[in-house]
Amino acid sequence: MENKKEMRTWLDDFKLDHPLVIAGPCSAETEEQVLKIAHELKNSDVSIFRAGIWKPRTRPGGFEGVGAIGLKWLQKAKAETGLLMATEVANAAHVKLALEHDIDVLWIGARTTVNPFAVQEIADALEGTDKIVLVKNPVNPDLALWIGGVERLYKANIKKLGVIHRGFSTYEKTKYRNIPEWQIPIDLQNRFPDLPLICDPSHITGKRDMIQEVSQQALDMNFDGLIIETHIDPDNAWSDAAQQVTPTTLKQIFEDLKVRKETESGSEYLSKMNGLRSQIDELDAKILEVLGSRMKVADKIGVLKKENNVAILQNKRWNEILGKMILEGEEKGLSNDFVMHLFKAIHQESINHQEKVVNN
Ligand code: PEP
Ligand code: MN
Repeated sequence: MENKKEMRTWLDDFKLDHPLVIAGPCSAETEEQVLKIAHELKNSDVSIFRAGIWKPRTRPGGFEGVGAIGLKWLQKAKAETGLLMATEVANAAHVKLALEHDIDVLWIGARTTVNPFAVQEIADALEGTDKIVLVKNPVNPDLALWIGGVERLYKANIKKLGVIHRGFSTYEKTKYRNIPEWQIPIDLQNRFPDLPLICDPSHITGKRDMIQEVSQQALDMNFDGLIIETHIDPDNAWSDAAQQVTPTTLKQIFEDLKVRKETESGSEYLSKMNGLRSQIDELDAKILEVLGSRMKVADKIGVLKKENNVAILQNKRWNEILGKMILEGEEKGLSNDFVMHLFKAIHQESINHQEKVVNN
């Protein structure tokens, strides 16, 4: 890996020529496990070692972390390898212990970010610290809640702040453990352009063989860093076994990742790009024009329905349109999912138009 963009804020202190990498096990299990992994990661692109000490588990009875004793192992790993140490904190007591043990980076987990009381308690306990604090997105796709967490920490005078995108829970099973919904971190980056944005492909994918692909996507979207769960013996890890990679695999991932430039100022590139962009602009204008015309027709249908006292929603007709468009979309190389979302939005807009006509 190499770097692509001017680093900003606290990331500058790392003086990296590549994106920031945080790696280490999901959980600290034993002193030996922590030290072994940290030594394997020592001379690599990794700057920060991660290990969960307190583990929030969905259901009781699982391994809930080794607790405060693990902080001593992290101190030892730091002394022996020089790596900075990161762990998750979920309440004021965790913060106090982590600070007492000189932990460098504290992250707030997805199950904590959803709870403003908990985030406020952590922010109060951290008030004014110069440690790096990273806020994971909440488990649900709620940008305001994520921003709220960031604001609570800003208000507590924490200067070295960043965010981690770890994907969002869904009820349906997908190929992801937590679906990325990339638009949400992108919106956050637009709102806070100076806030370092780190991707957690481990918790997004839940599977080690998808880590490379999602890491590459994150770098293609200008993420500033990656946090990747790494274990000496992934299959026998005490938590999140399926998604952890070995230090050797991690190094291979770094070799294969391509860090692309944020932009290019060469004149040949610019003139080609400008040509293509003006085509896009013209097509976008046409799309809007067509949609405007479609809504005018929808209004006329609304008038007809009103005159004949017919219901607005005609399910049979709507299902026919959707099915037909999905098939035709396929022929044009458009994914089923995209066509479905697009036509659901168009249909909703038509209904809104007709509601106005019928009820006025
Ligand atoms: C973790 O990082 O191990 C963890 C529990 O993550 P999340 O809060 O994203 O589920
Ligand atoms: Mn984990």
